[in-house]
Amino acid sequence: MTAGADPRGRLVAERADAGARGDALRAEFERVLGYTADRDADDEHDIEGASMPFDREMLRATLRRAIVSLAEVDAALGRLAAGTYGVCADCGRPVEPGRLEARPAARTCVSCARPPG
Ligand SMILES: [Zn+2]
Repeated sequence: MTAGADPRGRLVAERADAGARGDALRAEFERVLGYTADRDADDEHDIEGASMPFDREMLRATLRRAIVSLAEVDAALGRLAAGTYGVCADCGRPVEPGRLEARPAARTCVSCARPPG
């Protein structure tokens, strides 16, 4: 565990941040969807709307990331409550304090987070 640090405070702040980001993105996503629907989106040859599917995919991906980080923060808060915060979920070794510093919601240690190969 990282003595002296305040993981809960940081996670709560991070959660509020991710939640706000998700809300803003969702509103934007709905706006874009509404905009597309107004234009009768089943016309694939709509020249004016040519960039829309791309924008929509970008937004969808960004929104998904926001949802994922929110879920990660929630999971980290759950681990904090369970007393397993700061322990790698894969190998059971302590997660590096520097990593928790950079990513309070980190689920695994640096070596487990590294993609294989
Ligand atoms: Zn690990």
